[in-house]
Amino acid sequence: MNRPQLSVVIPVYNEEAGLAALFARLYPALDQLGLPYEIVFVNDGSRDRSAAMLAEQFRVRPDVTRVVLFNGNYGQHMAILAGFEHTRGEWVITLDADLQNPPEEIGKLVEKLAAGHDYVGTIRMNRQDTWFRRNASRVMNRLRERITRIRMTDQGCMLRGYSRHIVDTVNQCREINTFIPALAYTFAQNPVEVDVAHEERFAGESKYSLYSLIRLNFDLVTGFSVVPLQWLSGIGISLSIGSGLLFIVLIARRFLFGSEVQGVFTLFAVTFCLLGVILFGMGLLGEYIGRIYQQVRQRPRYLVQAVLEERDAPAAPATAQAAESDTAGAR
Ligand code: UDP
Ligand code: MG
Repeated sequence: MNRPQLSVVIPVYNEEAGLAALFARLYPALDQLGLPYEIVFVNDGSRDRSAAMLAEQFRVRPDVTRVVLFNGNYGQHMAILAGFEHTRGEWVITLDADLQNPPEEIGKLVEKLAAGHDYVGTIRMNRQDTWFRRNASRVMNRLRERITRIRMTDQGCMLRGYSRHIVDTVNQCREINTFIPALAYTFAQNPVEVDVAHEERFAGESKYSLYSLIRLNFDLVTGFSVVPLQWLSGIGISLSIGSGLLFIVLIARRFLFGSEVQGVFTLFAVTFCLLGVILFGMGLLGEYIGRIYQQVRQRPRYLVQAVLEERDAPAAPATAQAAESDTAGAR
């Protein structure tokens, strides 16, 4: 396989119901572009037939297909990172496997990459997700806009284009909890955004529970900003000043009016409110500290079980190449 111009990276987790439809639309859409391309599927520890279907697809189109198989479920963003490490194209495009990002839109991104942009963001037109997801995203987009220097309209859309230099830089990062569109953006010199269509999930259900969505958003916040910690200090300072003033008032009243015992419930209300602030603050600190702990342990981020790919000519000895791809994934 010669070096392709375009690499498409697709994370796959329990997508057996939709994979056939994805193959049926993706390959023709890419063939039509008239560029040498490769598709890198990353199986993120699916427990259904996805891995077998990807292996079968590799047999059908070995010239343009590569499959990275994880030994467990490490999450969408780790899967994309592993995919990045196995891409060779000058341009890299990421895509979801559930057909929510229409493969026919890839051409629009390729156009921008060809025009010299190193980062192509996307804005989903008519986003086909639940009311809750759309509004939660709006809130998170606004928060991210305030607390980081990352400027994008729609951070959640995974149909995105990156130049080789950005992918190489992302490959050098050893982050465990990360959010790829944001991480890549921090390295972009000439970013641009395009509108893309969005469809309903073709089959199956979203692989993100409310819990994993919250965790992902904490990854975004903690990974790219310490402003929440500064807000916390700000709250602490103003509360200290407030309670200092209250202390002076209470002392003055003690001397003016003698001991007063009313207002016990007010005291409870104030105390519980402050307890809430403290617990929230500790939780937020914990989010940062837990991530620091994971990072300093330097365990492998993911383990690659196997990589299905055609050998480049001249072929390297099979064992050497297998070992190489294992360590590449295991860092
Ligand atoms: N995905 C993955 N690992 C996970 C969860 C999701 O590789 O742990 C993949 C999934 O197969 C899909 C993409 O990430 O290709 C987006 O997932 P999904 O469509 O469930 O997310 P949503 O569209 O609801 O945000
Ligand atoms: Mg989806």
